[in-house]
Amino acid sequence: MENRKLLVGAHTSAAGGVHKALIKGKEIGATTIQIFTSNQKRWHGKLIDDDEVRRFEEIQAETGISEIMSHDSYLINLGSPDPELLEKSINAFTLELKRCHQLKLSYLNFHPGIAKTSTEEECLDQIVKSLSSIEELANGGSTRLLIETTAGQGTTVGNKFEHLAYLINRLESKIPIGVCIDTCHIFAAGYDLRTKEAYEHTFAEFDRIVGLKHLYAFHLNDSLRPFGSRKDRHASLGEGEIGAEAFSLLMKDPRFQCMPKYLETPNGETMWKEEIEMLNKYAEENSCLNASE
Ligand SMILES: [Zn+2]
Ligand SMILES: [Zn+2]
Repeated sequence: MENRKLLVGAHTSAAGGVHKALIKGKEIGATTIQIFTSNQKRWHGKLIDDDEVRRFEEIQAETGISEIMSHDSYLINLGSPDPELLEKSINAFTLELKRCHQLKLSYLNFHPGIAKTSTEEECLDQIVKSLSSIEELANGGSTRLLIETTAGQGTTVGNKFEHLAYLINRLESKIPIGVCIDTCHIFAAGYDLRTKEAYEHTFAEFDRIVGLKHLYAFHLNDSLRPFGSRKDRHASLGEGEIGAEAFSLLMKDPRFQCMPKYLETPNGETMWKEEIEMLNKYAEENSCLNASE
C-alpha cells in the first residue's frame, strides 16, 4: 500500500508535441492530465515518432504526472450506420489506441456513438461489434478503454446509465473497458447532482444499473445549460447550473478518492490552476491510499 497524491488535473494542450501537455500540466499544479494524441478534428493521424515517445517518457518521469488519459477524436463514430464512416472510425480508433499504447497511457476515453438513422439499440450493437473487432489490439497494451457518459445531444447514445450497462455487459469479458463520468453530461442528461440527496441518488442509480466497480475516472465540468437540457456546454466549477456543492461532495467521497479527475472547463490554464487548488481544498484527505497497490 502506498500513499500518493490526489489525481486532479485538466485537459492540457499537446500543441508542439504530446510532452508539452505534461509541462503545461505541471505549471497548473496537475497530478494527472488528459490529452489529444493527435489533431482531434482530422481523420488522417499517424503513429507518434520514437523521439517524441522518448521525450514524453522523460518529462512524465520528471513531472510525476500519472494516470494519463487520451480523449479520442470527435469525428469517430463507432456506432455509425454508414459503412464508409464506420470503417474510417474503426481505423482512426485503432490508430488512436496504438498511440495510447506507444505512450503507455492509462486510459482512452471515447464518446460511444451517434445513432443517426439507426435505433439506439442498433447503434449500441454496432459499438459492441466495432470494439470487438479490435479485441486483440485492446488486450495487447496497458490502456483501458473508458466509455464517456454523454449529454444526449441529438441522437448520441451514452446518456442513459442503461446504455453504459448494455455495452459493459457485452464487452467486459473481451476487452479492458470501463466508464468515465462527465459531471456536466450526466447532469444535462437528467441525473441531478445539486444537493447531497440528489448526488447520493444519482450514484446509487449508477451503482444499481452499471456498477461502481466499472467506474474509473471523472471529467469535472459545471454545466452552462439547465438540468435535463441534453445540451453539452461546459462551465467553470461553481459558475454553472450544477454549483460548487456537487464538486465538494465528490472530492470528499471516499469511493472516488483514488480516481483521476480531469477538468475540461472553459478559460484554460489560469482558471484550471485555481480550480485544481479549489478541488484539492475540498478534499478532506490530500492523499489517496490505494489498497490495490
Ligand atoms: Zn468528451
Ligand atoms: Zn462535454
